[in-house]
Amino acid sequence: MKTTIEKIPGDTEGVTYEVTVFRFKGTSRSAPTAYIQAALHAGELPGVVAVHALMPMLRAAEAEGRIAGDITIVPAANPIGRAQYHFGEVQGRFHLGTRTNFNRDFPLIGRPDASALPPLNPASTADTRLKRLLVGLSMGHDIVLDLHCDDEGVPYLYIPAQLWPAMKDCAAAMGVDAVILWDGPSGAAFEEAAIHPYRGMAPEKAGFDRRVVTTVELRGLSDVESSYAKSDAEGIYRLLAVRGVIADEKAAKAKRFTGIAAPIGNVEMIAMPRAGAILFHVQPGQRVRKGAKLATIVHTPGEPDGAIEVRAPQSGYILTRISRRSGRAGDDIIKLIGEVRSAKPKAGALED
Ligand SMILES: [Zn+2]
Repeated sequence: MKTTIEKIPGDTEGVTYEVTVFRFKGTSRSAPTAYIQAALHAGELPGVVAVHALMPMLRAAEAEGRIAGDITIVPAANPIGRAQYHFGEVQGRFHLGTRTNFNRDFPLIGRPDASALPPLNPASTADTRLKRLLVGLSMGHDIVLDLHCDDEGVPYLYIPAQLWPAMKDCAAAMGVDAVILWDGPSGAAFEEAAIHPYRGMAPEKAGFDRRVVTTVELRGLSDVESSYAKSDAEGIYRLLAVRGVIADEKAAKAKRFTGIAAPIGNVEMIAMPRAGAILFHVQPGQRVRKGAKLATIVHTPGEPDGAIEVRAPQSGYILTRISRRSGRAGDDIIKLIGEVRSAKPKAGALED
């Protein structure tokens, strides 16, 4: 395994960011290759600790000559966001200098070749340099995993619709509870940048059956636990074994995916009708019927009619909820995967 440190010049003199990259060399040229990055949204650490738990497993596989395909790992993909502390809290979702989401505006290129990336100019901001670096590092890998987390939620995957159901084995290997299938533009999220070069190709040439591209949502922000880190590392390792990046017959045994898979248009973003305090009546992983009480918003405390109920617009499955217990009118507080298409469908990307 080789370690390299990539440097990104900051937007002011005397500031440089460092991105650590681990590379395992595979023994077979025909085996699929994998790229894994964590914490593109810099405060989302379940993936970071999962990668930390995965590394000893990969080192052991390397020592035994069982790494067939090249593996590139970026354990902490966003040192810029990681350094953005305001009032004691990390602000790792948006670049403060440009107000751009770190998981948007990635370069979309027409062929899977890092040399097709647009050139940087001296005026490019640090976040743009970081995005170019990450796309360049991932380009050409058959398997691309972008490890994120939600606010409070079950483990779930975003997957480009073209790769489903071929990626059912991956969802099963990782043991996720749900899969959201998306199509169309996402605002150039990293996942879109990873699949984009293949979209214009004929299916045989694009090799969709061998390709894995996904944004992995490893539960919620606070789910940074040793037990989850271990089970998530085992899930990623199983995926690598199932797809032949690592030789491990036991781990490669096929599992069945028993979770929910739905198009992104079925997701109901449940918004607050009024500002106030949130009393949730449901939690992620729960199934609800149409009309079920999801939350009570206390908007005028102390008054007899000071609270309003939020109900399920259709039957479905609670995927996530926010971790705060206060909000403004219009704030989304729950993602519900409906049984049918939402009356107000979201296209491309939800939040990550
Ligand atoms: Zn994220």
